[in-house]
Amino acid sequence: MRHPLVIGNWKLNGSTEMVKELIVALCNKLSNVIGCDVVIAPPVVYLDLAKHHLGISNSNLTLGAQNVDTNIAGAFTGEVSASMLKDIGAKYIIIGHSERRTYHKESDDNIVKKFTVLKLTGLIPILCIGESEAENQDGKTESVCARQLDAVINHLGVQALENCVIAYEPIWAIGTGKSAKPTQVQAVHKFIRGYIAKHNVEIAENIIILYGGSVNPSNATELFTQLDIDGALVGGASLMADTFVLIVKAA
Ligand code: PGA
Repeated sequence: MRHPLVIGNWKLNGSTEMVKELIVALCNKLSNVIGCDVVIAPPVVYLDLAKHHLGISNSNLTLGAQNVDTNIAGAFTGEVSASMLKDIGAKYIIIGHSERRTYHKESDDNIVKKFTVLKLTGLIPILCIGESEAENQDGKTESVCARQLDAVINHLGVQALENCVIAYEPIWAIGTGKSAKPTQVQAVHKFIRGYIAKHNVEIAENIIILYGGSVNPSNATELFTQLDIDGALVGGASLMADTFVLIVKAA
């Protein structure tokens, strides 16, 4: 059975002080929240520090990371491998985020390689998919999502989507304050689940599909009442304990 999941993607934000303050505040405010899994994904250099503060607070928040390299080990300067992320305590790894597709020219093939190393390492991929504003206006939302899902399904088989999370993030809604309408999001999530169901009904029923793109405390409740929206991938609003906690409570 699927369960609500809210993930805070801190992106390129943080400092030693901020990691401590935000985690302490989250742990205090979320100590008696049940029924929703909560993941925080700080920048990779702060994962160990985040684990330390979560440990002190005896928290059940889970650690995630924002990226992984396609290689296992070796001469790849500046990269971080899946086994390193696992070693340090991360469980969920974001891949295919539109910021990485755009700024780092990550292709579907590249994302499949990342997906593969995560599965081999026993980590949970959070596969981000979603269309640009132009594609949205051209009515290409479904075909873009299908192409991004096919990249994984065609290479690895639908079984690879078992114990994986999909995040539908329309690019035009990310960081713009312009969230997609809950009913629009529901329609896309239903399409995504249906598309996976064509390959395997059980995997489709169980897969967690998150929405991401300007989620905040005022739109969270309506988003989460939609049947196929299982939670959220939250950027900006995850950097403040109060707003992030309100989103988690809405889920
Ligand atoms: P946002 O980012 O909540 O700031 O729009 C979402 C994301 O990029 O995952």
